[in-house]
Amino acid sequence: MLGTMQDWPLLVWKLIDHAATFHGDREVVSLTCEGVRHRSDWRTVRGRARQVAEALRHMGIVPGDRVATLAWNTYRHVESWYGISGMGGVAHTINPRLFDDQIVYIANHAEDRVLFFDLTFVKLVERLAPRFTTIEHYVLLTDRAHMPADTTLDIICYEDFIAGESADAPWTELDEKAPAGLCYTSGTTGNPKGVQYSHRSNVLHAMAASMTDTFGMGARTTVLPIAPMYHANAWSMPYTAAACGAKLVLNGPNFDAPTLQELIVSEDVDLALAVPTVWLSMLQHLEANGGNLGKLERTAIGGSAVPRSMIESFDRLHGVRVLQLWGMTEMSPLGTVGSPSPHVHAMTYDEQLDYRIKQGRGIFGVEMKIVGDDGAELVRDGKAFGRLLVRGPWIVESYFKGDGGQVLDADGWFDTGDVATLCPLGYMQIVDRSKDVIKSGGEWISSIDLENAAVGAPGVAEAAVIGIHHPKWDERPLLLVRQKDGATVTKDTVLAYLDGKIAKWWTPDEVLVVDELPHTATGKLLKTELRERYKDYRFPGA
Ligand code: ADP
Repeated sequence: MLGTMQDWPLLVWKLIDHAATFHGDREVVSLTCEGVRHRSDWRTVRGRARQVAEALRHMGIVPGDRVATLAWNTYRHVESWYGISGMGGVAHTINPRLFDDQIVYIANHAEDRVLFFDLTFVKLVERLAPRFTTIEHYVLLTDRAHMPADTTLDIICYEDFIAGESADAPWTELDEKAPAGLCYTSGTTGNPKGVQYSHRSNVLHAMAASMTDTFGMGARTTVLPIAPMYHANAWSMPYTAAACGAKLVLNGPNFDAPTLQELIVSEDVDLALAVPTVWLSMLQHLEANGGNLGKLERTAIGGSAVPRSMIESFDRLHGVRVLQLWGMTEMSPLGTVGSPSPHVHAMTYDEQLDYRIKQGRGIFGVEMKIVGDDGAELVRDGKAFGRLLVRGPWIVESYFKGDGGQVLDADGWFDTGDVATLCPLGYMQIVDRSKDVIKSGGEWISSIDLENAAVGAPGVAEAAVIGIHHPKWDERPLLLVRQKDGATVTKDTVLAYLDGKIAKWWTPDEVLVVDELPHTATGKLLKTELRERYKDYRFPGA
């Protein structure tokens, strides 16, 4: 016997239909690649997304086809997203910060038929087009006035592409399990693998993202997702903002602190989401130049661990509350958010910080457990740590085209590749990525904890820790720091700062001041590259 309620498939176009119907005038504001600030609203974006859907049908695209985007967060990218999946296509977001070879691999592997791209990427696309094996059409996300005069490509102008189509063109009725989007992991090891989101997974994830203890969003929220749409759905913001009727502010190709600050202030942004590196630049900019963050109440920060010093700076200097979150491409991406539980809320500020530096509590829809090397579940006492496994309706079941084979265990758990603790109050804390943890004398040292401590040292802009072979201890930590402009950082100043803040035996055996640190295409420290650079390094005297 079944329940007797309506079968209303969870399709992503229903999110924007809702926004257009109940919040039609709510704004969608973008900084654009043409260098202007564009103002639209959900009703208009929905109409133009339907035009995109119809134009794709007329082009011969059919449900299940992959349509790629190589684009910043702008209203045209949002329209394209909804338009592609609204006609049954799969919106394949490509990260433009990847290397040429990776972009070519990804587009060919996905068998993309169309590529929507921004003005910023004309040269990139010209360079790569001869190597794309399946792309039939190139659509430039701009208007006629901004079309490049001389290009080797046969390019369709986006505004011309949709111009003749109806803003009332129908959406395609689909099975809610049909694919809606595709995003490849960064592939720091091996080839990138595709995660194919379904309509259902995206809608459930979007609803969970708006909950009070997740991002607490509603129709009065003005949200700025600096997290890009090409990386794990911009943490669902183009979907969640539509579901709530929030005002959506998009920063286009701009990631510099002055532009972001001006945007936050002038558009009355109260929630902004980004990785720690973006906020580090913002804090440094505010420290150097003064200024404020207007009505910003909260920042959601994830992708890498959030240092304690960042949480304190936002609180004390700017009255902005940091919400740490953890997730991954394979999880759409949300897994945990660090909103305070009643117990934590009742603590003193310093006690609260001990919890706020953790990655957060699981949100409804995400099951988590930690296991030891033998696969047995470990206790949730905040001390025992092991591999973090997850399960839920917006977590990957298998990679696109079956790459990587079976990725779930017999009970359906997915191994995140992270090592973590779980505590009695429900908070999860990442100890490290399993491949980054430093094994010293049979004990583990968390590179993340060391980096977070070191980044608080005077003059340090960024810190990275890797394990270096040691004849006695197996591995010991090497700390690499990049200093702030004009600062003078030495091994002694850093070690003096760390003294008392970390366990004695965690003290790095060496501290090197470097000019730059390598990053992945998603802005994380590229540990594989660092390990390669320092593979022959030996500690003095070791
Ligand atoms: P990639 O950079 O590999 O494409 P993701 O963006 O999917 O991948 O990265 C997911 C990983 O990022 C997680 O498995 C975890 O190691 C790390 N991560 C994400 N959020 C946090 C956080 N708040 N603290 C520490 N690590 C995090």
